Amino acid sequence: MDVPLVVTDFDGTLFEQDMGHVLCDRFAGPAWREINGRLYTGELDLPEAQRQMWGLMEVSLEELVATALEAGRMRRGGDALFRAAADGRCELVVASGGFDFYVQALLGDRVGVLSALYCNHLSVLDNRPTPEFPHSDLRCGRCAICKAQVVARHRGTSGRRVIFCGDGFSDCCVAGACEAPTPEPVPELYVIEGRSLHEHCIEHALPCELLTDFQQVVRALE
Ligand SMILES: [Mg+2]
Repeated sequence: MDVPLVVTDFDGTLFEQDMGHVLCDRFAGPAWREINGRLYTGELDLPEAQRQMWGLMEVSLEELVATALEAGRMRRGGDALFRAAADGRCELVVASGGFDFYVQALLGDRVGVLSALYCNHLSVLDNRPTPEFPHSDLRCGRCAICKAQVVARHRGTSGRRVIFCGDGFSDCCVAGACEAPTPEPVPELYVIEGRSLHEHCIEHALPCELLTDFQQVVRALE
């Protein structure tokens, strides 16, 4: 019997802050918020919104990494979740619509515990950041890394138990928000209160747990 699969979002879920928002606030000027708003009206998909927002910046990669390390805080219980994965009590996958440079810097050695880490790539040339989206095999009509497809890839055909932790726009794909097949059954959802995924669950009458501490997820593995 396979151990449960835990797939977690990074920004605003595994880490308390949305690092994309933190860095845009610091380096992109106020115009990024209007672009972000056009994501929620459906006018832009996530990769195009990210291209436009990160295109507003003039900053070095070193400065971006330093700012992320200063601002980033892992959510309570996060280390217990990594211990559970290291002890073989679950398979842990991080699926992020954000960027490798801060996800890897903030996770550090913990990356070695993951069975997979999916995120986009940011290249910076002459202080001009450019988002790149290398996971073309996981793309959907909304996101460059569709989390429904990440769940499907790792769940396999065994019908194993899946827990998904998330908060935002791209996390709603695991619960039917995009054209990719919705994982069946829908994973057990742990959501951040008041964010897009929580609102989506309310709107579609999907059961979910409010996530404040990853010990909740570790306890659910027992
Ligand atoms: Mg998020």
